Amino acid sequence: MNKDIATPIRTRGILDKYGFSFKKSLGQNFLIDTNILKRIIDFAEIKEDTGAIEIGPGIGALTEQLARSSKKVVAFEIDQRLLPILADTLSPYSNVKIIHQDVLKADVNGVIKEEFNEISDVMVVANLPYYVTTPIIMKLLEEHLPIRGIVVMLQKEVADRISAKPGTKEYGSLSIAIQYYTKAETVMIVPKTVFVPQPNVDSAVIKLTRREKPAVQVKNETFFFQVTRTSFAQRRKTILNNLTSGLPEGKQKKNEIVEALNKLGIDPTRRGETLSLEEFAGLADELYTYFH
Ligand code: SAM
Repeated sequence: MNKDIATPIRTRGILDKYGFSFKKSLGQNFLIDTNILKRIIDFAEIKEDTGAIEIGPGIGALTEQLARSSKKVVAFEIDQRLLPILADTLSPYSNVKIIHQDVLKADVNGVIKEEFNEISDVMVVANLPYYVTTPIIMKLLEEHLPIRGIVVMLQKEVADRISAKPGTKEYGSLSIAIQYYTKAETVMIVPKTVFVPQPNVDSAVIKLTRREKPAVQVKNETFFFQVTRTSFAQRRKTILNNLTSGLPEGKQKKNEIVEALNKLGIDPTRRGETLSLEEFAGLADELYTYFH
C-alpha cells in the first residue's frame, strides 16, 4: 500500500515539492493525522459499494482514504493550484474523479446521477472549508440529494449549534433547519494540532443521517423556515415580539399571532429557544392561514 498523504512528513514533502502556499480565504487547513481520517470513514460507514462525494480534497488526505474504502470518489475543489498536486498524489487510485468547481455553484444532483448511476449508497464526506460550512450543508440538504447522509469536519461551535436541543443557548434556526431534514449528532471533537496550518478554532465531526421524511409535517416549508428564523431574530425577545416585528405585516396582525399561540398553548412570553420542532411546525401551520 502507498504511504499515507496525511502524515506531517509526507504532507510537508508535497507542499514543498509544489511550493504550495495556503490560502486562508479558502479555508485551507489540511489534515495530517491518519487516525482521525480513518475514524471519519468509520463514522460515515463507507463500504465497498459506497459512492463518496468530497468537498475540498486539498492535497488528497481524505480522498485517498475514501478511495481505498469506497467504490468511487467524486471531489469538488475550487483551487486550481491543487489540481496538478492531486493528479500526482492520487495517481495510484483509479476510482477518483476531481471536479474543478465551487461546490456552491455545482449541480451536485446531476453529478450524482452521472457519476454514481450504478451506486445506490451515496455519502458526503469532507473536511469543510470553515468560511462556508453552513451554506454548503444547507445547499446539500435543500437540494434533496439522493444521499444516505453527510459526515463532515467543521468548527466545534457550529457543530454544537447544529445538534443543539431546545432549551440550550446553542439551539436556533440552524439546529431546526438541519434537524428537520436529518438526525444530527456530534461524533468527535478534534484538536487543532491535527491540521496544517492550525485553525484558530476547535473542530468537531458531525454525522447527519437523512430522514426518510422530514422530522415534522408542515403546510409550507418556506414559511416554516421563515417563522423559525424570525423567532430567533433577537434572541432576548419573546416569541411574540420577534414574530410581530419580523413577519411581513406582523404588527398589524398581532392579534392573530396571539390567537395562534394561545390556540397551541404556547405562552407568548416564551423565547424561541424553548420551542420544540413540533411546536414550531404547529405554529407555522396555524399562522400560515393568516399570512397567505
Ligand atoms: N480535504 C483536505 C484535508 O482534509 O486535508 C482539505 C480540507 S480544507 C479544510 C478545505 C478545502 O476546500 C481546501 O482544499 C479548499 O481549497 C477547498 N474549498 C474551499 N472553498 C471551496 C468551495 N466553495 N468549493 C469547493 N472546494 C472549496
